[in-house]
Amino acid sequence: MIPQPISIQQLKKADPWQIELQKAFTHPLELLNHLNIKQANQGILFPDYDLSQNFKTKVPKSFAALMQTQTPDDPLLLQVLPLKAENGIIPGFEVDPLKENNPKTNPLPGLLHKFSSRVLLTLTGACAVHCRYCFRRHFPYQENTPGLKNIDAIITYIQKHPCINEIILSGGDPLSAHDAYLNLVFDKIKALTQIKTIRLHTRFPIVIPQRITPELAALFKKTSEFGLKIVMVLHCNHPNELSPQLASYLALIQPFVTLLNQSVLLKNINNSAHTLISLSEKLFQWGILPYYLHQLDKVTGSHHFEVELTEAKKIVQTLHQALPGYLVPRFVQEVPGLASKYPIHCFTL
Ligand code: SF4
Repeated sequence: MIPQPISIQQLKKADPWQIELQKAFTHPLELLNHLNIKQANQGILFPDYDLSQNFKTKVPKSFAALMQTQTPDDPLLLQVLPLKAENGIIPGFEVDPLKENNPKTNPLPGLLHKFSSRVLLTLTGACAVHCRYCFRRHFPYQENTPGLKNIDAIITYIQKHPCINEIILSGGDPLSAHDAYLNLVFDKIKALTQIKTIRLHTRFPIVIPQRITPELAALFKKTSEFGLKIVMVLHCNHPNELSPQLASYLALIQPFVTLLNQSVLLKNINNSAHTLISLSEKLFQWGILPYYLHQLDKVTGSHHFEVELTEAKKIVQTLHQALPGYLVPRFVQEVPGLASKYPIHCFTL
C-alpha cells in the first residue's frame, strides 16, 4: 500500500493527478489542522500513531476540500481518520475476512478467481485514499500483484478457463496505475477473444477527479470501439463526495463507459435512509447507477463502522419505499465460498 515517491524530474512531467497524489495528507494531524479541528477535542487518534505502519493515513487535498471545517464528525473525515477504536482485537473481525488468501481463490499472484465467469486482478496495491474500513487493508500486495512478471501467466490461466468472460481490474485502486501500464494491460486483454467486458473498481475519480485524463478517455474509447464493454464501478459512500468537478471529468468517459456505484454501509457515515436516498438521486443525476450497498466485511480494525443488521434492513426497506427500483442498490454481503455475492433479504411476506 506504500507508493514510491516520484522524483523532481518525473514530477515536472507529471499529470495533475500525480501531483495531487504527492501532496496528499499522510498524517492525521496535518489533516485535522487543515480542517481546524483540535486534536485535544478529538482525542480519538491512535495514542502511538505510527507513520511507518502499512496502512497509514492518505487523504488527497481535493478530497479534504469536500469536508466541512471544524466538524469532527464530518462523514468524509470519519472514513479516513484513524481512530483509537481501530486498536484492539474484536471477536469475528479478522485480517482476511473474505478468505482471499488461499490457492483455490488466489491461484496466481495478482489473480483472484472467486466467481466462475469473472476474475479479479489486484493490479496495484496503491490507492488514492486509505479508507479505514477497507477489507483489503491487510492484503499482502507486495507479493500479490500481477506486475509485468506475472501478467502472462494470468493470461494463460484465463485462456485455460473459457467460462471467464469478464476481467475486473481492482487493487488497491487500478487507476493508481499509469495510463501506459493500463494500455499494456488492456492490450493483453484484447488478445483474449473470450473476454467481453473489462470492469474497473475504483475510488480514484471520487477523491482526485483529474485522474480521468484525456489519455485515459482515449484508451476507453479505443477499447469500446474494439468491441469490449467497459464498466466502471465507482466507490462513493456519501452524497458530499460527489463534487461538481467530478461530474465534468466523468463526462469525458461517459460515451464509452457504463458507470455504476458501490457503497459500504458505515455507522455514523451513511447509515440513514435520508443520506442514501440523496446519494442515489445525486448519482443518477450524473448518469451513475447505484449498484451495490455492502454490509461491512469484518476486517480487523473496522468494527466501529459496523451497522447492526436489523438497523440495516430497516434502512434498505425505506430505500425501496422512497426510490424507484433502479435507484435502490442491491444490499449484499460477500460470503467466502459462495458462487456470488449474497443478497440480504430485507422483507418478509
Ligand atoms: S480505495 Fe478501495 S481499495 Fe483503496 S483503501 Fe479505499 S476501499 Fe480499500
